[in-house]
Amino acid sequence: MDNKFPGKDISSSDLKDKFPLSSSNNKKKIIEVGKQISFGGNKIPIISGPNGIENKDLIFKCCEILEKNKLKLLRSQIYKPLTFPYRSEKYYEVGDKGLRILEEIKKNFDLLIVSEVMEEEKLRLMEPLVDIFQIGARNMQNFPLISKTARLNKPIILKRHFGCSIRDLLGSAEYALVEKNEKVILCERGISAPHTHKSTSRFMLDIQAIPAIKENSCLPIISDPSHACFWHGWVESLTLGSLAAGAEGLMIEFHPDPRNAAVDPLQAINFEEFTKLVKKLREISKIFNKEIV
Ligand code: PEP
Ligand code: MN
Repeated sequence: MDNKFPGKDISSSDLKDKFPLSSSNNKKKIIEVGKQISFGGNKIPIISGPNGIENKDLIFKCCEILEKNKLKLLRSQIYKPLTFPYRSEKYYEVGDKGLRILEEIKKNFDLLIVSEVMEEEKLRLMEPLVDIFQIGARNMQNFPLISKTARLNKPIILKRHFGCSIRDLLGSAEYALVEKNEKVILCERGISAPHTHKSTSRFMLDIQAIPAIKENSCLPIISDPSHACFWHGWVESLTLGSLAAGAEGLMIEFHPDPRNAAVDPLQAINFEEFTKLVKKLREISKIFNKEIV
C-alpha cells in the first residue's frame, strides 16, 4: 500500500481512492444552515438542549434558554437509541407524537431543529420539521440510512461510533457525499477503551481526533463532550478542551432539572451552568478569532 505515514491509520491512497470527496484533498467545506449559522468557517455553532424532548413544557423552557443566550440550534430528539428497551413513564410523548411538538417549536420560536433519525421510514415525517438530521453513533455504519438521509439534501451531523476509527468515519461520510449531499458535519462524541465503561469514564473524549480529522478531511468536525464523559461536572472542561483543539461546533446537553431527566440524567448541566458556560465560550472564542453562534 502506498502509505507515506505507515504508522498512521489513514494512507495517502485512502484520501485519493477510499474517500476522495470527504478527504482533505478538497477545499475546506463551510456548511451553511439557515441564514446565520455555518460550520467550518469562523463561527462555532452550539447545538444544545435536553437529551430527549420529553414533553412540550420542558422543551419550551429549553427553547427560551437558547433564545436568552442568542443561540439558534436546538437538540430536539424525538427518537432515541436507548441502550435498553424499557422506556420510562416520562417518555410517553416521544416518538411520532413528538412530531407535533416539533411543529409547535417551529411556530413559537425562531430556532433550527437538530434531530436524530434512526429509521428510513421516519424520514418523510421528519423532513418538513428538521433542519439538521443527526445520525447517531450507533448508526454510523448504517449505510442505507446514511444514503437515504443524504438524498433529502439537508445538513447531516454524523457522529463517530465509539468503536470506529477516523478512517471508518470518513468512509461513512463518503456515503452521503456520493449522493451529492456535501453538507456533512462530523461529530466526535467519545470512544470506548479497555478501561472505560466504568462509572468514572463511560466513554473517553478522543480530543486528538479533532486535529486528526481536520488534517484528513475537508468536512467540519464538532465535539459532543456531554456524551463523551457522561458526567455533568466534566462537561465544561471538555468543552473548553474541544474548543482549544479546534472543534468547529459543540453539542452540549442541558436540562431544567438534570438529575430528573428521563434519559442520561448524569450528563446534562443545568440552565445556570449552561448560561455561564456560553458566556465563557464567547469570551474564549475571541482568542481564536471565532464567534459562538
Ligand atoms: C444523542 O446525541 O442523543 C446520542 C444518542 O448520542 P450518541 O449517538 O453519540 O450516543
Ligand atoms: Mn444520549
